[in-house]
Amino acid sequence: MADRSLRGMRLGAQSLQSEEGVSFSPRATHTYACASCGRETTMVFAAEAEAPETWECRYCGQEATLLVDDKPVEVDRAEAKAPRSHWDMLLERRTEAELEELLQGRLNYLRSRRGQEQNA
Ligand SMILES: [Zn+2]
Repeated sequence: MADRSLRGMRLGAQSLQSEEGVSFSPRATHTYACASCGRETTMVFAAEAEAPETWECRYCGQEATLLVDDKPVEVDRAEAKAPRSHWDMLLERRTEAELEELLQGRLNYLRSRRGQEQNA
């Protein structure tokens, strides 16, 4: 995240005289639908970045869900929208052994889901 914003600043600060050698990283646009107000929030991420499943609605501040093929993705509720603070909370509640177990379960889930997407 920090790396991306720094890159953006540097690109913005580039003067017009030296376009050469400046490589713009590809961007991907993602749309988030808000169930609370029914509006859509559009976000642009670096194309190689995986878009979060949820984003804060820019209109009402509620959680908006990523749209894939015009349909909201299924959000795994075990994964909070603020990963770091969620992790912090986990650390307060869980032992490392328990976390390891959770992580394995999560990884298995992600792998199985990825497999399904490839077959679809
Ligand atoms: Zn909203």
